[in-house]
Amino acid sequence: MLKEKVLNAINDQINAEFHSAYLYLSMAAWFEDKGLTGFSNWMKIQYQEETSHAIKFFNYVIERNGRVILTPIAAVDTDFKNIVDVFEKTLAHEELVTDRINKIMDIAIAESDHATRSFLNWFVDEQVEEEANVNEILDTLRLINGEGNGVFMLDREMKQRVFVDSTQTE
Ligand code: MG
Repeated sequence: MLKEKVLNAINDQINAEFHSAYLYLSMAAWFEDKGLTGFSNWMKIQYQEETSHAIKFFNYVIERNGRVILTPIAAVDTDFKNIVDVFEKTLAHEELVTDRINKIMDIAIAESDHATRSFLNWFVDEQVEEEANVNEILDTLRLINGEGNGVFMLDREMKQRVFVDSTQTE
């Protein structure tokens, strides 16, 4: 059975993961409106990833005989200045998520919940990858000033991304 503090933190995180999914889907909609279907594809896969994270937490709570409580999802940005702005906001968001995961880890450590610590390690590693991926795209976007032919080339590359449910394979 999960201790109350750990359970509450994970329930909050389920909401946060769905909020992330919603944010990335909103970004996908923005890219669709700009005719950048590759960038939209990339964001839709982000949406799928975040949803899979929420479900991973959901299943863990059930496995530990806890009760999942779903709460309303906060509103997300619907408009952005430009492509660089979208990815700066994505990076800032992922840094926030990393912070959240670390805080849940702190609670698990304080509560001597070794099973949750072990479970959270997957998310600690996942966040390193998430931040690195977004940083790489941001570097490229800054190189091309977020405009011109480079954007179309990058859009084509972003179209290649496919969803792999890493919560099932790792
Ligand atoms: Mg996530």
